[in-house]
This record gives sequence, structure tokens and C-alpha cells, in this order.
Amino acid sequence: MPDPILRISGVDVRYGRTLALSDIDIDLFEGEAVGLLGTNGAGKTTLLNALSGFLRPAAGELRLFGASINRCPPHVIVRRGLLHLSQERDLFGDLTVHDNLRLGSLARAAKSFDRNLERVCHYFPRLKERLRQRASTMSGGEQQMLAIGRALMAEPRVLLFDEPSAGLSPLFVQEIGAMMQALRKEGEITIILVEQNMLLAAQVIDRYYMLRAGRIVARGPASELEKDHEELAREYYL
Ligand code: ATP
Repeated sequence: MPDPILRISGVDVRYGRTLALSDIDIDLFEGEAVGLLGTNGAGKTTLLNALSGFLRPAAGELRLFGASINRCPPHVIVRRGLLHLSQERDLFGDLTVHDNLRLGSLARAAKSFDRNLERVCHYFPRLKERLRQRASTMSGGEQQMLAIGRALMAEPRVLLFDEPSAGLSPLFVQEIGAMMQALRKEGEITIILVEQNMLLAAQVIDRYYMLRAGRIVARGPASELEKDHEELAREYYL
């Protein structure tokens, strides 16, 4: 078996005295897509923030490409190839779509701006039509596409998605699902997807972990989600 590119072992994360994550173990192999599922407050965003360097684990270890990232600041983790798409999207609203994409490619000194721009426009033709539009004037779904496009400009090796479907219309959710499937087919990227939309998750991921109150309470292949998602939803969400 190859070494995991991302290894989370025995990780606890605290907010002061509150234990938000307890003893989390996840291995992620190159080219895989893994889902993090669970109710509000289960600890999913906390885990993404720990991976991207915004929070430090109180115990355990995070290893990316074999090296510890427990003490790395966020910009170093980005440079090593792990990008986190937060729910806030963090776009520069006054800048154009094109300039937001350019800033994305600077985050990691990506080699070919033109080739990456072409790729992003291929995934999201809607962005191609709007390269000169100010980001703040785009719809929520378009802004989500721009945020994903900007991350892709940095040629990430690992992408963390935090509920990309939140607040979007079914049409945009479908487009984002299709884009993630296409991205996976290229096979160069490894994905962690936090998602409450089980149908979207089941389309994209290979395996899932279910979190509740900061602990992993279930794990399994995506096929279980398709088959049992109503049962899982009843058991873990309600
Ligand atoms: P959601 O789907 O609502 O984003 P989540 O699974 O991502 O939920 P987290 O946001 O990781 O959950 O929160 C996990 C727990 O940690 C919750 O109990 C939350 O209240 C708590 N928490 C999150 N951020 C902080 C913070 N900055 N300070 C204190 N507690 C926090």
C-alpha cells in the first residue's frame, strides 16, 4: 500500500476548555475523495481549519506528504499544495473575476497562468463570460465557482471543500457536482469534502467519515451512502 499523502492521527482540537475534536484518525491516499459528514457543530469545519493551519491540534499529528504540519502557518501549508475553500469564499469583491483568478495563481506561484485559466474556464464557462465583472456583483453560485476556480489556479494537490452547496440553487449544486467529478477524472487531485447534501457527496466521494460531537462515529464506502443515506441520516442527523 502506498503511503498516505495526508495522515491525521490521534488529533484533538480544543477551543479553550472545550474539546471540539477528539482522537481523529483519517488517512487519505493520492487521488481519493473523502467525505466528512455530520450535523451542525460536529467538528467538520474545525478539522478543515486544523489541516489548513488556522488551528493547532492540542494532541496528535497531521502529516502532509510525510512531513508534520502541526506547527506550520497557513501560507506554508498552501505552498505545500493544500488549499482550503472556506464557506466564506474570501473573494476580493472589488476586483474582477480575472484579477481574483490571478491572485489565486500567486498563492503558490503556479507555473502556467494561461493554461490554468483555460482549464478553469473549461470547468466554468460562466466565468469565462464574466472575466471583467467585479466579483461582488456575481450571484452566490457564481461566486462559489469563482472561489473554486481561484483555488484551482494555484495547482493544488489537496483541496478541502467546506459545504460548497450551502445556499446554492439546485442548478448550481449540479454544476459544482459535475465539476468535481470531472476534476476527479483528471486524477491529480485529492479531495476532502464537507457536505450536508448527501446526494452531492455520494456523487463525488469514494469513502465517508461521519462525525458527531467531535468524534468519528461511522465510516464506510460511498456506496453505503447511496444505499443507506436515509438510514444514516435518521441515525446520525436526527
Ligand atoms: P457546521 O456544519 O455548523 O459548520 P461543523 O461540523 O463544521 O458544523 P464546527 O464549526 O467545527 O462544526 O464546530 C465544532 C464545535 O466547536 C461546535 O460545538 C462549535 O460551537 C465549537 N466551535 C467552533 N468554533 C469555535 C470557536 N471559535 N470558539 C469556541 N467554540 C467553537
